[in-house]
Amino acid sequence: MPFRFCPACGVREIVFEHGKRFRCAACGFLYFHNVATAAGAVIESDGRLVFIVRAMDPAKGLLALPGGFVDPGERAEDAVLRECREEIGWEPESLEFLASFPNRYEFGNVMYNTCDFFFLARVEGLSEADFRLDPGEAAGVRFIRPEDLSPDELAFDSTRRAIEVYQALLKLQ
Ligand SMILES: [Zn+2]
Repeated sequence: MPFRFCPACGVREIVFEHGKRFRCAACGFLYFHNVATAAGAVIESDGRLVFIVRAMDPAKGLLALPGGFVDPGERAEDAVLRECREEIGWEPESLEFLASFPNRYEFGNVMYNTCDFFFLARVEGLSEADFRLDPGEAAGVRFIRPEDLSPDELAFDSTRRAIEVYQALLKLQ
């Protein structure tokens, strides 16, 4: 963590402890670096899943689901739809909760522990022509059958775990 000074009193005695909080030994100031909520869409169309090619770090060039961080005051269900609109210019009409998994997201030398909520949308006949990508977020889009996916193509481990839940769900149907 690139923090050195207490933001309350300015002394250089801040410690990061229990994996989640900063404490100032001089003035007792506490700041909780809590888990951040994120939401991603598992969009299935004709047996394939929709991935974006990440346009920025972390994991630039690797595959991710449309999604992102939940804003203050926002529901995860609304965040995932907003992120779909922002990243691919398209959003599903309905979503169902699939699973949640922890993830780690490093940005600007700060490690964020997240809890990623995944929602499933099943849509027939979707194609790249339905999307309008934000080039700042998505360098491209890929339709991939989950069985053809290699784990090292994925930006985040939570995505792999969510896809495993999706595949287990398919076997029950
Ligand atoms: Zn202090």
